[in-house]
Amino acid sequence: MKAVIIGAGMGGLSAAIALKQLGIEVEVYEQVTENKPVGAAISVWSNGVKCLNHLGLEREVAALGGIVETMSYVEAKTGDTMCRFSMQPLIDEVGQRPYPVARAELQLMLMNAYGLDDIHFGKKMISVSDGSDGATVEFADGTTVTADLVIGADGAKSRTREYVLGGPVTRRYAGYVNFNGLVEIDEAIGPATEWTTYVGDGRRVSVMPVAGGRFYFFFDVPMPEGAPYERGSAREVLAAEFADWAPGVQTLIAALDPSATNRVEILDLDPFHTWVKGRVAVLGDAAHNTTPDIGQGGCSAMEDAVALQYAFRDHPDDVPAALAAYQAARTERAGELVLRARKRCDVTHAKDPEKTAQWYRELRDEDGTNIIRGIVGNIMGGPVTPV
Ligand SMILES: Cc1cc2nc3c(=O)[nH]c(=O)nc-3n(C[C@H](O)[C@H](O)[C@H](O)COP(=O)(O)OP(=O)(O)OC[C@H]3O[C@@H](n4cnc5c(N)ncnc54)[C@H](O)[C@@H]3O)c2cc1C
Repeated sequence: MKAVIIGAGMGGLSAAIALKQLGIEVEVYEQVTENKPVGAAISVWSNGVKCLNHLGLEREVAALGGIVETMSYVEAKTGDTMCRFSMQPLIDEVGQRPYPVARAELQLMLMNAYGLDDIHFGKKMISVSDGSDGATVEFADGTTVTADLVIGADGAKSRTREYVLGGPVTRRYAGYVNFNGLVEIDEAIGPATEWTTYVGDGRRVSVMPVAGGRFYFFFDVPMPEGAPYERGSAREVLAAEFADWAPGVQTLIAALDPSATNRVEILDLDPFHTWVKGRVAVLGDAAHNTTPDIGQGGCSAMEDAVALQYAFRDHPDDVPAALAAYQAARTERAGELVLRARKRCDVTHAKDPEKTAQWYRELRDEDGTNIIRGIVGNIMGGPVTPV
């Protein structure tokens, strides 16, 4: 059996490793010519880490992961700690430490695990079609490839999704822009083994450690979609937007490298439950594009990959049965995470200012129990974290 995977992001590569482990011949096609992910880092929550462990990457991901011993929320302007609590109860409950990881390093780890030389870079898929004997992908350079199945892991703007759903869909702007990057750890911003989040005015500024003595940082700034932005001007923009925030935030703004700070408008997509058409299926952001507010988009893509492996393990010679099993295993779970993230996004970014004010009040009384319960709720329910 031969599978073609479109997209060498974390979803496509996880799926490639997962299918290869079953002895399926896998070819990966990626439009870009080099490993240059958009975004600095992600938090791989325990469900994502367990998927990577399942794929044989336990040592590798642990080597890239930052150690988060505690979490804290800090009042935006005063810098007062609203709450601080240990992550240990979460680790004990779900049986795995989460790892914030630099994106480029995660990508490279996955590429090496699959086989860097086996990825066809510079191949932009322009169409996919299905036949009784195989599905065929056409690339912008005029070449084609045919396989028993095609997995479209081609991200949030997926063309494969258009094929599967029979037409384009409109994504929803979530109302804010995320600036992110990496800086050297500086305890003036936050403790070295803490995930610190400054909150106020429906905004967030957050730092968490990744390997190599670095903080992954992000700023959330509610603003209209398509607001003008000059590349490289992150420091001036953030200095103006966060002028009256606490000294730790000012230290972060001074430390960041504006030329390496990413600016991303945040969108998501209503969940949909058709992920498969014939021999073609979507996976990762192509199937469930979420806001990053619960840090589960990439983890969910990794869950897709494991679920796809289980489906082909259980239906080894039957592509329609395997893809049907994959779809049945995933759409509800992934859709629920999208909606949870949307709900969290609205509270965090003051869609209803009173609800957000209430959340800030709750943070002052928090001992970690409620927040950890929420995170555990996100983690549980996938193929490697059954409830
Ligand atoms: C600001 C931000 C923060 C986030 N934080 C987290 C987090 O903390 N934790 C978490 O789990 N998730 C997080 N996410 C979500 C996570 O980044 C995505 O869910 C994840 O990258 C999805 O992986 P993917 O492989 O499906 O898609 P992508 O990573 O987008 O990869 C798709 C790949 O397909 C390629 N491609 C696209 N079209 C074609 C084509 N036509 N032909 C060939 N190749 C094509 C692209 O070049 C790309 O390499 C965050 C997202 C954002 C925006």
